[in-house]
Amino acid sequence: MSDIPSPAKVPEHAVMQQFEVIDNSLHIGGRSLSALASAVGRTPFYAYDRTVMDARVTALREAMPPRLHLHYAMKANPMPDVVQHLAAITDGLDVASAGELRVALETGTAPANISFAGPGKSTEDLELAVASGVIINMESRREMERIALLAERCGKRPPVAIRVNPDFELKAAGMKMGSGPKPFGVDAEQVPAMMQSLASLPLEFVGLHIFSGSQNLRPQAIIEAQRKTFELAYHLSQSAPAPIRWLNIGGGLGVPYFPGERHLDLAPIAANLAELVETAAARLPEAEIVMELGRYLVAEAGIYVCEVVDKKVSRGETFLVTNGGLHHHLAASGNFGQVIRKNYPLCLGNRVAGDTTEEVNVVGPLCTPLDILGHRVTLPTAEPGDLVVVFQSGAYGLSASPVGFLSHPPPGEVLV
Ligand SMILES: *Cc1c(COP(=O)(O)O)cnc(C)c1O
Repeated sequence: MSDIPSPAKVPEHAVMQQFEVIDNSLHIGGRSLSALASAVGRTPFYAYDRTVMDARVTALREAMPPRLHLHYAMKANPMPDVVQHLAAITDGLDVASAGELRVALETGTAPANISFAGPGKSTEDLELAVASGVIINMESRREMERIALLAERCGKRPPVAIRVNPDFELKAAGMKMGSGPKPFGVDAEQVPAMMQSLASLPLEFVGLHIFSGSQNLRPQAIIEAQRKTFELAYHLSQSAPAPIRWLNIGGGLGVPYFPGERHLDLAPIAANLAELVETAAARLPEAEIVMELGRYLVAEAGIYVCEVVDKKVSRGETFLVTNGGLHHHLAASGNFGQVIRKNYPLCLGNRVAGDTTEEVNVVGPLCTPLDILGHRVTLPTAEPGDLVVVFQSGAYGLSASPVGFLSHPPPGEVLV
């Protein structure tokens, strides 16, 4: 952060450095927050800064082995403008529904660079996937048979990969998505038999998808999981009906949200991957290696902005009641997979530092005690009309929130 008038007081957030503060106002996309709010025409709104996404992709490209392909996992933020921007600077897109696939195809990304994962794909999902020729990550033997039937009907031979539920876990992951009993993918030990059946179906086997977890901030855990991912791929390739041409190793790179969390050090992960990718060039010579990232590319680029509507004191605690809350930003309320509720980093965007500060609870307009954006946070003394900013809001924000709950209007959304 820069230009904070001292001796004014400002809460410290180690994770706000991606945005500038000028004349005590947060700036995003070259504009002060108040100017942006006027341009959007309403609060609350989400704003996503393309230069922050660019910086993440550039840092990854500089660190990672050049042969590694970088995909954007759209479910982190499916806003079409964001997807369009990321499609242009990454090597492909990963989708999880026909709806996401339509947005992905709209960007002009080649179907060969789009892959479709997700358990319980509907017939509509599969029909669009087969018709458009994207890589389908098959999540079960039954799904394989359904795809084969559709393929036969329309005389196609769609490219397919097997999504593997690995026999190891990504340790210390915020969300574990592999190992043990899981609804995702096919257990590694069942994959060879499935590959054998696949050989006689009208499907073009291209490779494997091995995704073990999400939101990890420990390089050693990621390194270990990636080693095991390649080992598993080598092992399964021995039973494959065709050479592995595509290997999606998942992602899992985390971003810091809470006090004490630090940015992931890419260097050791990149050094390890360089070795793994080089070995793979010999052992799976035809394979394109793909890393799929959602959160890491977009989370820090996004802010959620809401306006203070009321301020009141209840039995000694001050409440800032805003027009934004869990209906727009479930994750910041602590109700999207958090075990112990922690505050996302917040600031008062139109007055980052104040001559006076106070401890407040920032809450939303919903009639539920779950609607909290900040529990006992210190902010500059605020009044109705002031703008509260929630940082680290570019991933799993609006599209992961129950917008219909209590029938308030949806927020604005802009790419700046
Ligand atoms: C959710 C998901 C991702 C993205 O995870 P992030 O933590 O946002 O990077 C990638 N791949 C698959 C299969 C997913 O389900």
